[in-house]
Amino acid sequence: MSAEIIDGKAFAQSVRKRVTEQVATLKERYSLTPGLAVVLVGEDPASQVYVKNKNKSTIEAGMKSEEIRLPKTASQSEVLDVVARLNSDPSIHGILVQLPLPAQVDEMAVLDAIDPAKDVDGFHVINTGRQAVGLPAMVPCTPLGCLMMLKDRLGDLSGLNAVVVGRSNIVGKPMASLLLKESCTVTIAHSKTKDLPAVCRRADILVAAVGRPEMIRGDWIKPGATVVDVGINRMEGENGKTRLVGDVCFKEAVDIAQAITPVPGGVGPMTIACLLANTVTAACRIAGVEEPAH
Ligand code: NDP
Repeated sequence: MSAEIIDGKAFAQSVRKRVTEQVATLKERYSLTPGLAVVLVGEDPASQVYVKNKNKSTIEAGMKSEEIRLPKTASQSEVLDVVARLNSDPSIHGILVQLPLPAQVDEMAVLDAIDPAKDVDGFHVINTGRQAVGLPAMVPCTPLGCLMMLKDRLGDLSGLNAVVVGRSNIVGKPMASLLLKESCTVTIAHSKTKDLPAVCRRADILVAAVGRPEMIRGDWIKPGATVVDVGINRMEGENGKTRLVGDVCFKEAVDIAQAITPVPGGVGPMTIACLLANTVTAACRIAGVEEPAH
């Protein structure tokens, strides 16, 4: 049996439509226009594309968008000055500093300087801690998008065995924490995990966030599992062209899993949609108005 393909692009479109409606309501009811500022330091080509897409999507949703570009030689204090200005700007409700930052800028110091209420990426330790103890928090966009797709597909996740491969602060750990909150039995696997195929085979929900092309093979997957592939790996294709593949070997997994996210077109589009949703949430919390459900 071939797995159902979870269409992240269509799902993201429906989230963005909902966000656009919510923004219109906030404007009409409270004269509140959510504002998102994206800070880009340097000229990394992939980061430039991400920032351009974020800017476009923010404007399309009816929000205020501000893009701040600093040269790759910018000092830490220059970046911190920009963050401080945005923290005190009442028209900005979300601040995102595009990673990676140049070597001379301390990433943690910059992320820590963002007002936790405006931390729409959910990387600030205050938000990480609040999420861990079950308090309202800004949740990192990629795991939030994965969870939305899983809940849409499976409904109640309670009691399911979830395996998250990868323990980064931006994907693996927050993903595991969100699944635990949904009462899954969660295993976090990483590069030191013994017999990873056997660990993966226990998963009703398998989330791959590793950054290794097609590492997870079909026979690592429990028949009927739901597979979410976060990985984005650029591979040399035919005619010298590059193509994107995930961390899961899609052509093998699709015969075993019950449902699977493709790469591209799975988790990726959901990340920007969740960034917009987080900006609306932040704007509502800062303004003290009722926040819509996403
Ligand atoms: P990191 O490099 O920060 O983390 C990778 C994790 O994978 C680490 O915990 C590492 O373990 C683990 N790992 C590495 N090799 C193995 C292995 N052989 N077996 C088991 N575990 C292993 O990556 P990110 O979390 O930032 O990103 C993961 C992937 O997701 C990347 O492909 C990235 O491009 C993609 N991504 C996609 C996004 C989207 O919007 N779709 C957003 C963010 C990321 P250890 O800790 O032991 O080193």
